[in-house]
Amino acid sequence: MKRHNVFVCVMMFLIVMYSSIFADTAIDNEIALEYGLELTIEENDEPAVAGEFITNTLVSSIDEYEIFQQYDLNQRKLTLREWINSLDIELEPEKEEVMAVVTEQPAADTKYAYLTFDDGPSDNTVMILDCLQEYGVKATFFVLEVPGREDVYKRIVDEGHAIALHSSTHEYSEIYLTVDSYLDDIANLADVILEHTGVTTSLLRFPGGSNNTISHRYGGTDIMDRIIEATNAAGYVYFDWNVDSLDASKVTQDKDVIVNAVLDQSSVLKQPVILMHDSKYKTTTPEALPEIIEGLTQLGFSFEKLTPTTPVVQFNLNK
Ligand SMILES: [Zn+2]
Repeated sequence: MKRHNVFVCVMMFLIVMYSSIFADTAIDNEIALEYGLELTIEENDEPAVAGEFITNTLVSSIDEYEIFQQYDLNQRKLTLREWINSLDIELEPEKEEVMAVVTEQPAADTKYAYLTFDDGPSDNTVMILDCLQEYGVKATFFVLEVPGREDVYKRIVDEGHAIALHSSTHEYSEIYLTVDSYLDDIANLADVILEHTGVTTSLLRFPGGSNNTISHRYGGTDIMDRIIEATNAAGYVYFDWNVDSLDASKVTQDKDVIVNAVLDQSSVLKQPVILMHDSKYKTTTPEALPEIIEGLTQLGFSFEKLTPTTPVVQFNLNK
């Protein structure tokens, strides 16, 4: 057997082993095809055997393997590519030809854009969710407590988006009075979300952002500093934004203003976290969404939802 063929067999074996653990056949077939390999996945391979094989061959420790298991699919794909590219397999004389196949993969420097929607659920949430579904894009919803619309929380979660804490009441005069009034407000919201979705979330966005000054009227000039300290200590992770869609600058903003604001600001960023609103009068936000998704895609972005391990975007980091 030519060494070239040996190499291809090794690669197929690695990918089959990887696939048998994670059993996401669509993604794994996609990876295999990128490597020019055809793949038949055995769904019921022994996970322990496959895991041991990966541990011995691709990663140096059980810890590394366990971390890999927790990655989302995009990270797994990137990591798997890196591992395969780093395999030191001797290939002669076909080495150059075969390695060319392996290294022609897209660079592992995917840029992610994070679409975020504050203040829902509203009359517009269904339209937003339908659009995201059509494009296969995940987003993050910083929600309020809206009695009667709890089914929307469930749909957000069921369709793979991130549900996150914004406020129960969004009443600045109540939530920003004291640290405890803020903590009570989000604890109540977290309970409501848990009850209706089974999900506990530690992701947070402060009404008005972490640098808002409206809160000073109610809780004093240091209220946000004290609230931030308390939420950090309680294990919450808060996100501000670095792209403002301007959909809150008017009651109902022009659609084109929203599209241009998002694309212009995102074009110079590596990790745009985009502020948009999901509320009754923001009808042009869902209308702008298809052009935003298509435009960001053209700018080279993929889409992700926020997680507690996403690098944070916080105003105070830039102080
Ligand atoms: Zn808000």
